[in-house]
Amino acid sequence: MEFLLTLRRRGIMDAAVLRAMDEVPREYFVPTEQVGAAYADQALPIACGQTISQPYVVAYMTERLDLGPKHRILEIGTGSGYQAAILSRIVREVVTVERYRTLAEAARVRLQTLGFDNVQVVVGDGLKGAPDLAPFDRIMVTAAAEHIPQALVNQLANHGVMVLPLGPHGGAQTLVKLTKTDGEISQEELIGVRFVPLLAGTAREL
Ligand code: SAH
Repeated sequence: MEFLLTLRRRGIMDAAVLRAMDEVPREYFVPTEQVGAAYADQALPIACGQTISQPYVVAYMTERLDLGPKHRILEIGTGSGYQAAILSRIVREVVTVERYRTLAEAARVRLQTLGFDNVQVVVGDGLKGAPDLAPFDRIMVTAAAEHIPQALVNQLANHGVMVLPLGPHGGAQTLVKLTKTDGEISQEELIGVRFVPLLAGTAREL
C-alpha cells in the first residue's frame, strides 16, 4: 500500500509501528470533507481549529519512543484520537489528555466504536499531566511547548522517555527526546516540526 511505502521510504523501520500504521483506519479520524486526503502524508484540519498530525510525524514520534508491550503511555493533545489509537496497538495502556471537551468526547466515542479499548481520554490541562495516573513509562506531547513542562518530567518513570515539540508558537520547533535516568534528564534533538501550540488551561468552548 502506498501509505506504508511512503513511511518506509522516509525511514520508518520499526515493524510494530508500521503494523499499527497499517491497522488504524485514518479515514475515521479526519472530518468527512477530508476523507479523500486521509492517506496523503499531510496534516489535516479537525474541529476547534486543531490538526491531525502528518502520518510520517505520527510514525516517527512513535518510533522514537522505543515502545514495549507492557508500557503505560501518557499522550498530551488527544485531538482526533489518531495518535492515541496508534500507540494503543503497541502498548498496554494509553492515557490521553485534551483541553477541548468537544474533541475529547468525539475522540472517546470514535476510539470506543473502533474497539481501541485500552485508551482513556481525559479532559484537562495537559501541562499538568495526569498526576493521579502517574508514573508513565513513556510520554508523548503532540502540541508545541515553549518550555519543558516540569509536571510531565515528574510523571515520567525511571528510564522513561518523553518526546515533545519544543519551540515558539507558530515558529520553528524541534522535536526533542528526553530520557530520565535516576532523576537526571538527558536531551536529544531530533527533527524540525510544526505543531499547534500547547496552551495552558482547559479550553473555553466556542
Ligand atoms: N494527537 C492528535 C493531534 C494533536 S493537535 C491527533 O492524533 O489527532 C494538538 C492538540 O493538543 C489539540 O487538540 C489541542 O487542543 C491540544 N492541546 C493544546 N494544549 C493542550 C493542553 N495544555 N492540554 C491538553 N491538550 C492540549
